[in-house]
Amino acid sequence: MSLDTPHTGVLHYEEGVPKIPAAAVSMENAMMLRRMWERGERITVHLEMTCEQLPDAPSANVVGEVVGREKPEEIVLVSGHLDSWDAGQGAQDDGVGCVLAMEAGHLVQRLGLKPRRTLRVVLFANEENGSRGGLGYLEAHRQELSRHVAAMESDAGNGLAKGLSLELHDPKHGPALDKERALARFRALLKPFLEPLGAGLLEPGGSGVDVGPIVQAGVPGVGVSHDVTRYWDVHHSKADTFDKINREDLAKNSAIVAIAAFLLADMPERLTP
Ligand SMILES: [Zn+2]
Repeated sequence: MSLDTPHTGVLHYEEGVPKIPAAAVSMENAMMLRRMWERGERITVHLEMTCEQLPDAPSANVVGEVVGREKPEEIVLVSGHLDSWDAGQGAQDDGVGCVLAMEAGHLVQRLGLKPRRTLRVVLFANEENGSRGGLGYLEAHRQELSRHVAAMESDAGNGLAKGLSLELHDPKHGPALDKERALARFRALLKPFLEPLGAGLLEPGGSGVDVGPIVQAGVPGVGVSHDVTRYWDVHHSKADTFDKINREDLAKNSAIVAIAAFLLADMPERLTP
């Protein structure tokens, strides 16, 4: 479904090819153009584009921590991304992810819990247009990557989470991971708490674009498996506004993310050595 609203996005050019400007059209208009073309009609489009590529400017990731009680140097990261496209408000992509990450830290604090490890809340800059926040995080924290126990991200709207996915890559340096063992631990840790909330689906899968660089470097990645049935209707469009956020789902998703973040930060042994 598109409701005749075009969805924007990023375009990558290979080195050495001419950078032809691209524009998004709505699905309805795309289908109409196709029908016209199939009928053999000569199609003329009047196009006015005002966007332009400006030089890079500084921006920053926003980081906050609940410091761990026993292993404060070990980190469980929970995150979303701050930027969005100019078309809408970015409520689903990724305002929700930022709220869930902040709520994880907030709920743990409010309940007076002190996890074994540090819970680090990160709101990444610039996911949509080059992932510079995630790449910057990797650069800035390279020295402490081995102390990252897990990196969680929510970046798929506010549909009720059905579970979490675990993404594992072997570290660039060091021994290969025992992926089966890590998944078994992940399930044993989280299933008893998440299944009663309907979020017991714990499978191997992707984590997130922002945590991608550190996950590729060997940090276990955790994705939030939101129900995305309605997400793509509004994603990257003018329709991604605050009124689409279901309050009850947001509260349940907050609980799911906070519980998982706390348990990962508090588990006696790490998922991976
Ligand atoms: Zn996003």
